[in-house]
Amino acid sequence: MSQVCLCYKPLIHSVNVETDLQSMETSRIEVLEVNKNSETFIDDKIKELPFYVGNLDSVFEKHQKWQTLLPRVTPFYAVKCNNNLAVLRTLSALGTGFDCASKVSMVMSIGVTPDKIIYAHTTKPQSHIRYACAQGVDMMTFDNKEELLKITRGHPNAKLLLRIAVDDSKSQVKLSTKFGATLGTVGSLLKRAHELDLDVKGVSFHVGSLCTDSVAYRWAIEEAHHVFEQRLIGFHLDLLDIGGGFSGHGLEMVLNSKALDEFFPADSGVRVIAEPGRYFVDSAFTLALNVFARKKVWSLPISQKGSSKELLLSYGNGLDTMIMYYVTDGLHGAFGINKLHPDMKPFVLAQIPVCYLGPTCDSADRIMDVWMPELNIGDWILVDNFGAYTIPLPTDFNGFEKPTIYLVVTPQIWKMLNFKVIVWMLSERERERDSF
Ligand code: PLP
Repeated sequence: MSQVCLCYKPLIHSVNVETDLQSMETSRIEVLEVNKNSETFIDDKIKELPFYVGNLDSVFEKHQKWQTLLPRVTPFYAVKCNNNLAVLRTLSALGTGFDCASKVSMVMSIGVTPDKIIYAHTTKPQSHIRYACAQGVDMMTFDNKEELLKITRGHPNAKLLLRIAVDDSKSQVKLSTKFGATLGTVGSLLKRAHELDLDVKGVSFHVGSLCTDSVAYRWAIEEAHHVFEQRLIGFHLDLLDIGGGFSGHGLEMVLNSKALDEFFPADSGVRVIAEPGRYFVDSAFTLALNVFARKKVWSLPISQKGSSKELLLSYGNGLDTMIMYYVTDGLHGAFGINKLHPDMKPFVLAQIPVCYLGPTCDSADRIMDVWMPELNIGDWILVDNFGAYTIPLPTDFNGFEKPTIYLVVTPQIWKMLNFKVIVWMLSERERERDSF
């Protein structure tokens, strides 16, 4: 196996086709189409399909780590991050709650009870509010007066969390420009909620995804504390939601319970929940991409290279060319949110300038430019740490198939999870996609 480690995260390495594929495919059953046999099946899979392998042991271990580091904080897993049913069932078996951002039907379909769901979107379609109400899902967030009116009409008995906008400068993905009420508006929002006879139970925030500094949580927890301290007439605030933002690597680096203990000590009577997404799934999934085409091109646009005669003369000296690899997923799929990190540093010496392009005919579907060893058609590229904000994204733009998802789990963890059904391991493709 040739292996190229590009960076610590995501970790990319290439493998030869023959070596690893078969060992990954132990749990999936497919009924063969007419005129297909096992050979054509293997051929199709090797040549065309991107696929993921998800390791449920990793999800299990993350849960254990969470309980050790943040025993007072109940995680409500953010379904939007990776709505794979195996992940949801694993977390449900471990007793976590769920953060849904639209209709809550997906998690309810696997038996999650309404008390374990928070509808954590501050701007919701009226029909989804009604649906949540009909299903008995009471906990939801808001950050504006118009939303309060909609909630009055659709779910007057909802238990509300006021989402505040907090400093997201320590995070790679900012959320506060779009979500959260500024502290200056908190008073009038709570007053309006009171006038509408709505029940506000507490405060939520999100420091932004991929937070790299624990000080962001400290600032946000302190701001939430200010809101609690306002002692507003008519409300008994006893719920704090510290949102998501925890990286998939090293929870202890971004949050320890110090700020919580300072502002919301265990005897404060405040229940603390969180909405981690990336933390639970990022490191559990690897995406396997196939190189199905390649071509050598000028590394700079033709317009910058002089006349075509000059171009022809310099062609082949190796300095001005790069290799384009066309791979089986791209910006219209798993890479839509997760652009690979531009400052990735390859560890290997034998490198050439290459770029990776998604399979579609959109010229902007260019994943990244990087220096890497040469690959051939049929080789595979493995993208590790790729379970967050990848799986729910693929479109079928240009007719390219969505990646297949294979799941692995060790017998010990499987036994511990004690699943009632295993049917969900057979096919993920036909599942409903309406509730993440
Ligand atoms: N909660 C809300 C409201 C979000 O918008 C998000 C992500 O966008 C999350 C939780 C999950 O965040 P993360 O994956 O960074 O933990």
